[in-house]
Amino acid sequence: MVPIGKRALLGAAAAVLAAPARAQRSYPTRPVTMVVPFAAGGPTDTVARLVAQAMGAELGQTIVVENVAGAGGTLGAQRVARARPDGYTILLHHIGMATIPTLYRRLAYDPINGFEPLGLVTEVPMTLIARRDFPAANLEEMVQVIRREGTKLNYANAGIGAASHLCGLLFMKSMDTAMTTVPYRGTAPAMNDLLAGTVDVLCDQTTNTTEQIRAGTVKAYAVTTRERVASLPEVPTAAEAGLPNFEVSVWHGLYAPKGTPQPIVAQLNRALVAALQDQNVARRFADLGTAPVPVARATPEIHRQFWQDDIAKWRPLIQAAGQFAD
Ligand code: ASP
Repeated sequence: MVPIGKRALLGAAAAVLAAPARAQRSYPTRPVTMVVPFAAGGPTDTVARLVAQAMGAELGQTIVVENVAGAGGTLGAQRVARARPDGYTILLHHIGMATIPTLYRRLAYDPINGFEPLGLVTEVPMTLIARRDFPAANLEEMVQVIRREGTKLNYANAGIGAASHLCGLLFMKSMDTAMTTVPYRGTAPAMNDLLAGTVDVLCDQTTNTTEQIRAGTVKAYAVTTRERVASLPEVPTAAEAGLPNFEVSVWHGLYAPKGTPQPIVAQLNRALVAALQDQNVARRFADLGTAPVPVARATPEIHRQFWQDDIAKWRPLIQAAGQFAD
């Protein structure tokens, strides 16, 4: 065993040997902050921490995840839109980047032109779930209970702009009924209250619900994708369960503030691509019902186009649902 003092000396020698290579590198020379606009321990945070670790290994710098939660993901986005565009503050957000521009009439940042897309990360199915003792055996019964009980039931979400908000909006609209909405700073605390039975229903990414569904601590009624999810084979699709045309999945993308120099954008994109090819990331994503996007699709250009198309896709649906934040 090498004594501590010697280890430190060896470490110092290694640092000296590595110094010339590092001296040539102009970015990143210090840790990078990855902002997550929702609470720690939730689905966006889970994806971010896996990606941050693998990207950090590629960049040779730590990527520190910072949760700037609240207001449906707009506070974290604002923090990054207003950050210095030097590559040291980046954002891992989700589908909210496509719905927030329509949902919010007023924002203290530009939700479209405030960012440089760095690449798509993953697309995650959602699951419609309820507290363990919810009195319905399947989706049809669930809809009957919701029609009967209406606003006596609590639907948890992560604020206007969250994926859970969007899913709940579409679900309630398609049933032409309403539950009482209870907003959280992310769906990690929402899940805690669902487990405690203080809220009744939640729609959330499989990255937060898979383990609870498998453990039987919540009831799952449907996945919101066209196909069943491999990690949850027993959960029917919404269409199979009697709710056709109810599809929503949560894509995640990585962003830098507008004006970040192109070489840094390219470097961050390369690190993202490396993270998407990382076996540990792929394995963990698969356990949680998702997969990294194919690397051919993880370019800033494809991300920008996809994001713009998704804004256009959701705008009329949100306008028809008529629920906006001020
Ligand atoms: N799943 C959440 C949402 O509803 C956000 C989160 O906590 O990751 O958008």
